[in-house]
Amino acid sequence: LSLLEKANNALTRRVRLKTARSQLSTPLASFSFDDFPRSAWTIGGPILARHDARATYYVAGRFCDAHEDGLEYYGPEDLRALHAAGHEVGCHTFSHRHSPKVPSRELGADLDRNAAFVRDTLGADISIDSFAYPYGDASPRTKALAGRRFPVSRGIRSGVNGPVLDLGQLKAVPLEIRSWTAEAVEHEVELARQTNGWIVFFSHDVSEDPSPYGATPAMLEHALGEVRAAGIEILPVRDAYRRAVPSQA
Ligand SMILES: [Zn+2]
Repeated sequence: LSLLEKANNALTRRVRLKTARSQLSTPLASFSFDDFPRSAWTIGGPILARHDARATYYVAGRFCDAHEDGLEYYGPEDLRALHAAGHEVGCHTFSHRHSPKVPSRELGADLDRNAAFVRDTLGADISIDSFAYPYGDASPRTKALAGRRFPVSRGIRSGVNGPVLDLGQLKAVPLEIRSWTAEAVEHEVELARQTNGWIVFFSHDVSEDPSPYGATPAMLEHALGEVRAAGIEILPVRDAYRRAVPSQA
């Protein structure tokens, strides 16, 4: 990122157009996967199932059946299977561009296109209730736009959410091998437990040989194990949002 982009991101995080006080009296955790590489479902799905956890898969239509940078991405069957298993399908735009560089009309059309793609794949009655910014990249303008379209949006700034929630840009803890340490995950889980916070994890692929943005099965197991050991309930982002802000949901 350029200096200007970094400054813009810092400004954007301070633009809180959509805040709510968390009503949680117990901590919550959510697990999310962006884009998403197929292994997030084929390898991540069974790990989640063993922990009785449902996740949020942030889908960008352009990755459907794609092979890029050595990664195989999801196909329509994967999307149908994970939806049937009770996981949430969220929006990650269709074209996965840097949204602050995309004019509002074009960005709106791109979000419509992704919604149409998801409806075509999963059925017309599917509701898409949460959003994740591609690259975590937002501007005050795109944050306002996402806020009008989605009850809750997730960024990639690390941390635990609460007691005041920025519903236009939730914080999230990376499960990415390029930055991961067990201690950091354990610290954030403990913080969530102590503060009745909402901890949202995000990753991409799940593999013994992951991309820099992905996790090993052991990393995912570790995070799920820490959350369970702390007695923290796991819900998809949409369901956790409804629990945290019942008056808006
Ligand atoms: Zn992405």
